[in-house]
Amino acid sequence: SYRKGGYHAVRIGDQFAGGRYVAQRKLGWGQFSTVWLAYDTTSSMYVALKIQKSAAQFAQAALHEIQVLTAIAEGDSSNSKCVVRLIDHFKHAGPNGQHLCMVLEFLGDSLLRLIKYNRYKGLKLNKVREICKCILMGMDYLHRELGIIHTDLKPENILLFNTIDPAKDPVRSKVTPILERPEGNMNGGVTMSIIEKKLKRRAKRAVAKISLRRESMGGGAAPKSERDIDGIDVRCKVVDFGNACWADKQLAEEIQTRQYRAPEVIIRSGYSYSVDMWSFACTAFELATGDMLFAPKMGQGFSEDEDHLALMMELLGKMPRKVAIGGARSKDFFDRHGDLKRIRRLKFWPLDKILIDRYKFSETDAREFADFLCPIFDFAPEKRPTAQQCLQHPWLNGITSTQGEVKNNSNVEKVNVGMSNLQIKVGK
Ligand code: ATP
Ligand code: MG
Ligand code: MG
Repeated sequence: SYRKGGYHAVRIGDQFAGGRYVAQRKLGWGQFSTVWLAYDTTSSMYVALKIQKSAAQFAQAALHEIQVLTAIAEGDSSNSKCVVRLIDHFKHAGPNGQHLCMVLEFLGDSLLRLIKYNRYKGLKLNKVREICKCILMGMDYLHRELGIIHTDLKPENILLFNTIDPAKDPVRSKVTPILERPEGNMNGGVTMSIIEKKLKRRAKRAVAKISLRRESMGGGAAPKSERDIDGIDVRCKVVDFGNACWADKQLAEEIQTRQYRAPEVIIRSGYSYSVDMWSFACTAFELATGDMLFAPKMGQGFSEDEDHLALMMELLGKMPRKVAIGGARSKDFFDRHGDLKRIRRLKFWPLDKILIDRYKFSETDAREFADFLCPIFDFAPEKRPTAQQCLQHPWLNGITSTQGEVKNNSNVEKVNVGMSNLQIKVGK
């Protein structure tokens, strides 16, 4: 992909925007771009530099993303709404063409990496709660204040904060920015994230291999081991607005990453903000258990879409007939009674039972968590609670969980933790 129209090749020390930004090391990449840690010589801060592929369709996508990110930044002057902040954007000419570049605030590891790091065992419920609050605050802002649907919410697109800002604390993090291209072969090992460091240490000690997600899905529970993510501050932000749209200007019919896709998108009955709520609930389950809630597969005589709908109905009960037959693609999947044509026998296994049977939740934890999630998994999109309504749910405002901690049954606490306290505090 490093050819005409593709990625721009970057070397450590490369300068951008007339020397303002200096490349430090690669942070990640996607289908559209490579993302670099860069030092901003104007603000003396580290930033994330997203360098888009240069071909016309990528440039157009970047312009759209910049438009969305600009609206997001303009409505959030205090930068407190749990969405990534656009700092700057410019064009960069290279051998492969003109690349649109976005300068974003520098964030840390994704929640997917956090789940992986925790060996797909699920995070403590208190951590899940904190993360859920962040995501919901982000969604409430996008939906209610801006009229924007994210359309690709998933653990990979939610990044943790960096606990240490290397620019503000150069002594503790032992970091000096690279300001020009270094001589010889150099590995730009600047600012390793906490998870990255721990992963490296773990790899050195050759501890048991991190089990693959698929393996941990199918078989029995993987052996329990100590979760040592206690020191990680779990504030986070939503990123990747490449697919976001204004609710009144929708661009695509097929949206969302498969496992986080809402039923109305599969049957093509139109969508709105509530598709993000569906993805949010899938993400919350994954954080708490380490497993994807729906991992559909094509099988003999049925498609991935049909398997997906079947999995949903096994968890949530039969889709109401009116909803099932109401989409442009309904006839591909359902008969006139609203039953799946090609998958006839469903095994009903409700959420609270799954949490108890497979994930060994206590009955109280399972009931409370299922109470929070089930209304979001309504097949009728208009009946799903909004992000604002979810933020008021008692489950989010409970102080402790039973997972290895003292259970707090006091309702007083729940009442006292009002909306004003929803801003997540550092080091709590
Ligand atoms: P996709 O194919 O997912 O649409 P993309 O080309 O649009 O990819 P992003 O998903 O925005 O790119 O970013 C690619 C990766 O770069 C992310 O998965 C993440 O690892 C890293 N990254 C993106 N933004 C930041 C940021 N602000 N701070 C730190 N890392 C980031
Ligand atoms: Mg992405
Ligand atoms: Mg993208």
